[in-house]
Amino acid sequence: MENGAKKWCFQGNKELNASSISVRGVFNMLVSNLNKEDRRTMIRLCRADPTDFQCFRTTPVAPDAITTTVQSYRFNSYPSTVGLIEGRRAVADHLSKDLPYRLSPDNVFLTIGCTQAINIMMTVLARSGANILLPRPGYPQYEARAACVGLEVRYFDLVPERGWEVDIDSLEALADENTVAMVIINPSNPCGNVFTYEHLKKIAETARKLGIFVVSDEVYAHITFGSKPFVPMGVFASIVPVINLGSLSKRWLVPGWRLGWIATCDPDGIFEKTGIVENIKNYLDITCDPPTFMQAALPQILEKTKDSFFSHNLLIMREAANIFYDRCKEIPCLTCPHKPEGTMTVMVQINLSKLEGIIDDVDFCIKLAKEESVILLPGVTVGLKNWLRITYAVEASALEDGLGRIKSFSLRHAKMP
Ligand SMILES: *Cc1c(COP(=O)(O)O)cnc(C)c1O
Repeated sequence: MENGAKKWCFQGNKELNASSISVRGVFNMLVSNLNKEDRRTMIRLCRADPTDFQCFRTTPVAPDAITTTVQSYRFNSYPSTVGLIEGRRAVADHLSKDLPYRLSPDNVFLTIGCTQAINIMMTVLARSGANILLPRPGYPQYEARAACVGLEVRYFDLVPERGWEVDIDSLEALADENTVAMVIINPSNPCGNVFTYEHLKKIAETARKLGIFVVSDEVYAHITFGSKPFVPMGVFASIVPVINLGSLSKRWLVPGWRLGWIATCDPDGIFEKTGIVENIKNYLDITCDPPTFMQAALPQILEKTKDSFFSHNLLIMREAANIFYDRCKEIPCLTCPHKPEGTMTVMVQINLSKLEGIIDDVDFCIKLAKEESVILLPGVTVGLKNWLRITYAVEASALEDGLGRIKSFSLRHAKMP
């Protein structure tokens, strides 16, 4: 090399690039395909962040709690790595309301949103040779982080014809002696379904038989507006130990506040015995924490939010799901196999044989962005090629407008008989 420099010893990490499929990455790609001449506003039906809209506003209890904690000047220090005791106790009490036993603050670790909770669990489980079972379709953060830390991923299917229930047989066939855990997301992003008590029990019994534990992503806990109530996986923790992941982001409509948690639901103390809790604590010692004042605001937010705030939001979501489902039936190339009954997202299948000149889901989304300024998430991002993930958590008028544009698009590209 010139000037006597040694050959550079570094290069980009290819494994990281391979794991970089993400909702936000795909979103950025689609936005770069928008037609700048189109005067209409862009409609984003691609991400579960409805906070652009007035009707999806957090409860005043939340900013009041933050203001009080900041103005007290008592929460300016670094927090302890596991989280502030007041915040941990508030989460333990909050979750215990739905469980047949009580969680203690020691069962709870506060994290930077549910995203960091996922990252921590994937990292903790990534001992050499281990594998984890993930749902397909699922939430891409799991596989992205697993790839970063060298944890092998295996997919079990969710079955659209059975309301997106877990294919228990395929689950059993995947596991071997190196399988450490399985992940479920309930209520389900991306599918919008809610698991029944009986189905969750079956999952718990299967996991027990396989000797693995369950990571239950309940970031959408209680966001259900169909006929099925939300049942936390922790109800079955005497059958199989459960790690519950959650956050304020979705239910309190504050995804930007970055406050989440890991809760160990394990009345028989199996996590303690197997060293998993020690692993989590050790990892928390070397990672970063949510801001101290945010943690300190948790008790007020969790205890004082009124039921009317939640029920009002569920009304809006139910209405949006109805609009979505009715309008979607009018779009000939799309099939929604299961009406959404929870969360903010749903999966629809593209019938490519009814379309001219659209090769796959990514192509569909790019052309839709270009021609109609509507952004949807290609199904491949969540593990199902030639499907779409649609978020209906937007204001009713924007939803109607967006679905109308998708209909025009599909009529324009319809194959002539
Ligand atoms: C949004 C979401 C997360 C991330 O939650 P944050 O609290 O925003 O980090 C995790 N899992 C699922 C299934 C989600 O939909």
